[in-house]
Amino acid sequence: MPAHILVTGSTRGIGAAIVPALEAKGAQVVGHGRGDGQGVIGADLGQAGAADALWDKALEALDGRIDVLVNNAGVFEGVAVDAPADEWRAAWGRTMQINLQASADLCRRAVLHFHERGSGGRIVNIASRAAYRGDSPEHWHYAASKAGMVGMTKSIARSYAGEEILAFAVCPGFVMTGMAGDDLAARAADIPLGRVATPEEIAGIAAYLALEAPASMTGAVLDANGASFVR
Ligand code: NAD
Repeated sequence: MPAHILVTGSTRGIGAAIVPALEAKGAQVVGHGRGDGQGVIGADLGQAGAADALWDKALEALDGRIDVLVNNAGVFEGVAVDAPADEWRAAWGRTMQINLQASADLCRRAVLHFHERGSGGRIVNIASRAAYRGDSPEHWHYAASKAGMVGMTKSIARSYAGEEILAFAVCPGFVMTGMAGDDLAARAADIPLGRVATPEEIAGIAAYLALEAPASMTGAVLDANGASFVR
């Protein structure tokens, strides 16, 4: 029986690489994007409640069974420290909503679903090197959202391992997608490996965690940053 998997943010970048990596291992995948189309379920995760609606639609599309949730959708939007306070708070709210709250809402639904069916399941959260290293002056909120994701992943792993509900996080450094910006040469200068990661590299890690990693690895956070932040 193929594993049934929901991947958020699958319309481009890392998410678009995760889908074929999972399918190559025999999984049946439902993708997600900001809007409907491109064969994915649309849901603007910036809206409260959108994650729950996405879960319901994905469950229906996958015949009532989801075995793995991959929380990949995210934004990297800067806000200056001297921005007006309302702008600052709005930027924090939006990043926290999309990167952390929507991921948490989906994790919650996944855990409840795994409980209900009683046969375990897996969660793979795409966090960031920023969770451990921090980020730029414009991206405190991004780093905080990803650190939150890591703490949430570890909590889920510790809470439900006895029920075979496994949770993992991946912490990429820069990856060759729109999110890493245009100047990849400048990014690479800080990376001992000499280049940013490819989406396929991150997708391979995610697919391994989703389908193959041994249960004893639950709670693990895997770095993929070309040794730019070794901890
Ligand atoms: P990307 O911008 O290419 O893709 C982001 C995906 O998230 C898209 O599919 C987009 O539709 C979805 N998304 C964004 N806002 C959304 C919203 N409001 N509602 C619904 N969907 C929304 O980015 P990427 O580089 O592929 O990043 C994927 C994940 O990897 C993100 O969580 C990101 O934080 C993380 N990450 C990326 C890098 C990098 O350098 N690219 C580094 C570390 C971590």
